[in-house]
Amino acid sequence: MKHDDCLFCKIIAGEIPSAKVYEDENVYAFLDISQVTTGHTLVIPKIHTVDIYEMDENVASNIFTSVPKIARAMKTTFKPAGLNILNNNEVAAGQSVFHFHLHLIPRYNKDDGFNAKWITRNDEFSQEELQDMANNIAKEIE
Ligand code: 5GP
Ligand code: ZN
Repeated sequence: MKHDDCLFCKIIAGEIPSAKVYEDENVYAFLDISQVTTGHTLVIPKIHTVDIYEMDENVASNIFTSVPKIARAMKTTFKPAGLNILNNNEVAAGQSVFHFHLHLIPRYNKDDGFNAKWITRNDEFSQEELQDMANNIAKEIE
């Protein structure tokens, strides 16, 4: 279902131009207007889905099925040294367009424009604490 006030629904409908990389019945992929690195591609479901929390299983299946072939094509085209796949959910995580999208970001070197930095805290949790945490998540999985 198209949402009239959604930028990416307008792109899918062709109302806003985009550089299309791939399209099938359920999925659309196009170059990000702001190329963090050369080839930076967005993969989106055609059905309006705000974020990972509201994603239907079939939509997830369709999206993730398309990713390896798009990634392989990008690898052949740009010959990057690596590839990061990123998805931001909710404002606090950096989401700015509220139609789910995966960022496929080819990596060339450590100064190529993309920088995901996090601090590892390997020894802050005991195995028991980790298992408690895991159990808390597990019991919520439907
Ligand atoms: P987010 O911050 O939500 O994870 O990513 C949204 C992405 O959409 C940004 O990287 C931004 O550059 C891209 N974007 C925003 N508007 C447009 C547009 O009109 N066309 C294209 N191709 N990309 C867009
Ligand atoms: Zn949309």
